Amino acid sequence: MDEIFGTWSHPARPASLWLDSAESWDFDPVQSGSAFDVVIIGAGFTGLWTAVHLLNRDPTLRIAILDAVQPGFGASGRNGGWCSAAAPMSLEYVAQLSSRQQAIDLQHALNDTVDQIGLFIQSHNIKCGWQKSGTLTFATIPAHLMHSENTVKSYRDFGFGDEQISVLNAEQAATRINVHGALGATYTPHCATIHPAQLVDGLVRYLLSRDVLFFGQSRVTSFGNGVVAAKTPHGPVSMQTEWAIRATEGFTAHLSHYRRAVAPIYSYMIATEPLSRDIWEQLGWNGRETFADARHSVIYAQRTPDDRIAFGGRGAPYKFASNINPKFDMNRAVHDRIEATMKQLFPAVADVEITHRWGGVLGAHRNWCTSVSVDPDARIAAAGGYVGDGVAFTHLAARAIADRITRTESTESRLFFNSVSSKKWEPEPLRWLGVNSLLRINSLSDIYERRRNKSSRFLEWIIGLFVK
Ligand SMILES: Cc1cc2nc3c(=O)[nH]c(=O)nc-3n(C[C@H](O)[C@H](O)[C@H](O)COP(=O)(O)OP(=O)(O)OC[C@H]3O[C@@H](n4cnc5c(N)ncnc54)[C@H](O)[C@@H]3O)c2cc1C
Repeated sequence: MDEIFGTWSHPARPASLWLDSAESWDFDPVQSGSAFDVVIIGAGFTGLWTAVHLLNRDPTLRIAILDAVQPGFGASGRNGGWCSAAAPMSLEYVAQLSSRQQAIDLQHALNDTVDQIGLFIQSHNIKCGWQKSGTLTFATIPAHLMHSENTVKSYRDFGFGDEQISVLNAEQAATRINVHGALGATYTPHCATIHPAQLVDGLVRYLLSRDVLFFGQSRVTSFGNGVVAAKTPHGPVSMQTEWAIRATEGFTAHLSHYRRAVAPIYSYMIATEPLSRDIWEQLGWNGRETFADARHSVIYAQRTPDDRIAFGGRGAPYKFASNINPKFDMNRAVHDRIEATMKQLFPAVADVEITHRWGGVLGAHRNWCTSVSVDPDARIAAAGGYVGDGVAFTHLAARAIADRITRTESTESRLFFNSVSSKKWEPEPLRWLGVNSLLRINSLSDIYERRRNKSSRFLEWIIGLFVK
């Protein structure tokens, strides 16, 4: 069994709730001697959207998508299903690295991207539970109210009004979702809830209908300068291509030459059994908004199309040397913590059964910024570093790749993430120490804020020093 990827067959198939009600793709491995215009490495949202946009630009392109396992194996088949206009970098950070206008343009582009994805889903009749009803971020302690105030102030400073983010007092928030101890919430309409694996399936079907070739169990080992080499169950193969596109996100560190490019960070989720009408009456949540609160160690949830709660959280330790292994998809301590948090926020679910527990890797660049790179000499392009905000951002990044490769002038190809590049992560053990210290400071800040009833500035200070 491959250490990083396991095998696609049971029991190594991830235990993601979403994969239970999605296709079990079984594409054959690629064979030697093939030739393509574009080879895309990775069949998650980045790879799939890149193929969609490339075909929009040039329908004659011969495109192959290779995955080490099968489509949807990575984060795209396991995430929280927030199709959101959020980005891992704040408006201030983008302005600091680029310009105020770039920060504003990026936010508008992300808002618009959510709608473009919705249109694509609608016009291709993809059944993936799409509902655009925004995100509610609750405050359950006074420090959260301060964080929310700062977030809203930041948007206002960049000229965004209530149409971007608005404030709900405790009473108004309670009419949307009944959250224990809620003091208020912020609301942004720029998010839809989806069944992510069914969106993967819809994209695969669409691309098959456009004659894109898919290959599974084809783990790429090297690429660039017109050649892609892969390891398959039948042995090593190589193929010719004009362009190679790396869409490997959290798994990138396991490609030679990219070991320190992207740190894989685990995020974990649980799902309840479908909840009774009685429980939903207690919870409210009729709008199916995506749910979070303003703590530092990110939590996220949605009411699923089949009336469960799918609830996730970050904060699990980073594995030494960017290690990834299917056995890390389960983490009893983290899953228990997520369950306890969910039950504390929603006492109505205290006795419900947790039917699914799973995890997956996000990818983070050293500067915490999403980026798109195109190297016309080596004929390599890449997008990634979405941290936990890639469901919509992949669509935007993929548009930029497609435009730049086909030399199409566009707004997307001039956005900030096209010109930012991150330095490499530190060698081990410094990387392990750095990433885990940041994660630990996040959770300590939450404890401090809960106990002291005031906001901790320590984290911002540390991040300011570390993320450069
Ligand atoms: C638990 C969890 C919850 C999340 N929740 C959200 C959310 O609610 N909203 C949001 O916006 N984002 C969320 N994210 C992040 C989001 O899912 C990702 O940013 C997004 O799916 C990234 O898509 P991708 O195609 O770049 O990468 P992936 O979906 O990870 O796909 C990469 C693919 O590349 C393949 N691959 C890797 N290496 C090779 C190789 N050498 N050769 C061939 N193939 C290879 C893998 O098998 C995989 O299929 C979450 C992530 C996780 C893990």
